[in-house]
Amino acid sequence: MHDVIVVGARCAGAATAMLLARQGHKVLLIDQDRFPSDMRLSTHLVWHAGVDLLQKWGVLEAVRASLCPALTEFSLDLGELVLKGTPPGTQVGAAFAPKRIVLDQALQDAAVAAGAELREGVLFDDVLRDGDRVIGITAKNPDGSLMTEHARWVVGADGRHSRVARSVNSSSYHEFPKEAGSLNTFAYFSGVSLKGVEFISRPQRMAYAWATNDDQVVAGIILPGTSPRMPRQDVEAHFFAEMEAMSPDLAARLRAGKREEDWISTGVSTFCRQAVGPGWSLVGDAGVTIDPITAAGITNALRDADLLAELLHQGLSGPGDLGDTVAAYAARRDAVAVPLHLFSQNMASLAPPTDDVIQLFTGLAHNQPQADRYFGVFGQTVSPADFFSPENLQEIATSEQAAVSA
Ligand SMILES: Cc1cc2nc3c(=O)[nH]c(=O)nc-3n(C[C@H](O)[C@H](O)[C@H](O)COP(=O)(O)OP(=O)(O)OC[C@H]3O[C@@H](n4cnc5c(N)ncnc54)[C@H](O)[C@@H]3O)c2cc1C
Repeated sequence: MHDVIVVGARCAGAATAMLLARQGHKVLLIDQDRFPSDMRLSTHLVWHAGVDLLQKWGVLEAVRASLCPALTEFSLDLGELVLKGTPPGTQVGAAFAPKRIVLDQALQDAAVAAGAELREGVLFDDVLRDGDRVIGITAKNPDGSLMTEHARWVVGADGRHSRVARSVNSSSYHEFPKEAGSLNTFAYFSGVSLKGVEFISRPQRMAYAWATNDDQVVAGIILPGTSPRMPRQDVEAHFFAEMEAMSPDLAARLRAGKREEDWISTGVSTFCRQAVGPGWSLVGDAGVTIDPITAAGITNALRDADLLAELLHQGLSGPGDLGDTVAAYAARRDAVAVPLHLFSQNMASLAPPTDDVIQLFTGLAHNQPQADRYFGVFGQTVSPADFFSPENLQEIATSEQAAVSA
């Protein structure tokens, strides 16, 4: 009998297992994958709020030891003007983009060191129930035999196609098809010099680049989800034609380097799923999948793990009902994740800027504290709801008018 079974052992699941094991709970962590292994469908930028959690948990040292550079400069090139800023209110004051083979392994190592049992190559099949309450799982061992394990709680951290979510009939809301989102095409390059984390925004298009492990940079372009897929043999030509049109400077720096791996091109459908039910909960992409345009998923997954582990620990060790205690996770998760998801989805439409948006960016160009707060929306240290509140937009407009008339 385990206290908690966690299905999925990457950033969301390994972090949850680590935090619970550190509190002395008996945790079983399973994954169909074997580790260390990469997860290529991600540009793996971990923003400031996520980095602060890694620091709090003592895991950031392993990321730094992998020679993954700290990212401290951020720019958004809007054509007419370039915004620069740093998210406020952070401990470490940097983002990092560790390859998943580094980040997921660091979290798993910490989970196992804390006493969690990791079983690899194990495919979750279904939940076990007592009435409507989940009391364990069935899964397939690497040799094909069936595994049955019981627990007081089951956590689905098995990504956006979550089989746990399907097994427990978690309902979805704020759903968007992948055509409503962004189509992201990226690759790794060596020998490229960057000016910090670079975002370039044009109507119907974005480009980005940042540094990662192995002296490489990850660079990509983002088009609307309705764009036709580039034929495999033409991706390079299409990528550089788009990049050239958006930023001849970044295109030249990328051309001067060497592409190190195959192109990846993908779009995702996005959603929120019911976070908690009797005996189960979801963390990370299993619970909320956010359009990659804001690179928000990993930071969001780490926050989910932190929130859920705290409530599970209270519920497992306190006198109250476990289900009642963990129920609070749903509202606490959604208070942060839903505005982030909707902001990301809106951005993913890549709509040409309205007059209001142009006015906002003009105001930000002359108002560094507010420009920093705008970057804080991405860094997840400022809520989109706060930043885009009528009061805050009015404050930006008023200081712009004062600057113009001065
Ligand atoms: C193109 C693209 C770019 C992105 N870029 C960024 C970025 O720059 N920054 C960022 O923060 N986020 C980014 N994301 C999102 C980010 O990758 C996800 O938010 C993150 O991977 C979620 O982590 P997770 O642990 O919830 O799930 P996952 O990383 O998907 O891990 C789920 C784990 O569950 C396991 N699993 C699944 N099913 C089963 C089963 N039946 N049995 C056992 N194990 C199972 C899988 O093997 C896997 O190891 C990007 C996404 C895409 C698509």
